[in-house]
Amino acid sequence: MHKITLIFGDGIGPEITEAVKTVIAAAGVDILWDVQEVGQKALKAYGNPLPDAAIESIKANKIALKGPVTTQIGNGFKSINVTLRQTFDLYANIRPVKSLPGVKTPFTGIDMVIFRENTEDLYAGIENVINEDRVEAIKAITRKASRRIAERAFEYAHQNNRKKVTAVHKANIMKKADGLFLEEVRKAADKYSDIAYDELIVDNACMKLVQQPQKFDVIVTENLYGDIISDLCAGLVGGLGVVPGMNVGEECMIFEAVHGSAPDIAGKNIANPLALLMSAVEMLKAIGETEAADSIQSAIYKLLKEGKCLTPDLGGSATTSEVAQELCRLVAN
Ligand code: NAD
Repeated sequence: MHKITLIFGDGIGPEITEAVKTVIAAAGVDILWDVQEVGQKALKAYGNPLPDAAIESIKANKIALKGPVTTQIGNGFKSINVTLRQTFDLYANIRPVKSLPGVKTPFTGIDMVIFRENTEDLYAGIENVINEDRVEAIKAITRKASRRIAERAFEYAHQNNRKKVTAVHKANIMKKADGLFLEEVRKAADKYSDIAYDELIVDNACMKLVQQPQKFDVIVTENLYGDIISDLCAGLVGGLGVVPGMNVGEECMIFEAVHGSAPDIAGKNIANPLALLMSAVEMLKAIGETEAADSIQSAIYKLLKEGKCLTPDLGGSATTSEVAQELCRLVAN
């Protein structure tokens, strides 16, 4: 029995999370869900969108599945996602990007995984107002953060029979900051003679990604480039509704879809649960439930290939619960 923290989240969060729970149960995985309120409900009930109980639960269980939460602008609370990332030092944002059967895009045969450093770079939010005409934002890159994301990417490549790691950077301009990042990636590359290694400047990488995305395998990059590239790559395979995401640290892992709480369609039972379900598949792999992960993965592929039971964002007219029921049927067969 696995004990996992479950956060339903806001907006479409409860609908898609319920759907995902149902499909995981149909795959026969024994999970004790430790449900924690995070987001707008928690804010109303406890005056804090991220209560200590939720933090303690993730600390104890080490694994969480999380629906999207609404970040309210201007209520004085820091973004829940940023706080979780910092609290648990979730230094790697990992996004597998894969062409899917039945999802029409200009490309086929894409299969890559992006490792984005998640803790520093311009995202540390260090901004100084020098005077009313000048603001400086600090890009901080450290050896430690560069080393651990690089090592994680190579270790993943090695363990998952991947052939190549590409470092994406802009060290031709930011010679020192990106130079330090590259230095650490090269050191990691030296340790893995079974994995080919190359480097691309970020602008060139963007061009190549939209010309021949099939040539990419594992990408390792800094926070800002990773943010942009990972959405670009999601677009290559059908968008944010069909790519999983995970935030990983030394101690804890939080699995979640990349999309937000979609307030425009919340409560209508039409949200697509597939991105969160794909994130849950990654979670099942991480806890050693590979058989269930494979069975849900192939159910998703069948569903997409048949194209008969899809939510409106994928061109269908099925509800979230109908998609969940159909997936349960496919998992059972
Ligand atoms: P969003 O991703 O919620 O929505 C963008 C568009 O995509 C909307 O039209 C929405 O209907 C659609 N969409 C998103 N997910 C969908 C799904 N599963 N099925 C069908 N359609 C889907 O982005 P937004 O509107 O910019 O953000 C809304 C809220 O979500 C904000 O408060 C934002 O801060 C928050 N957010 C949270 C997370 C997270 O918790 N991980 C991530 C991004 C945004």
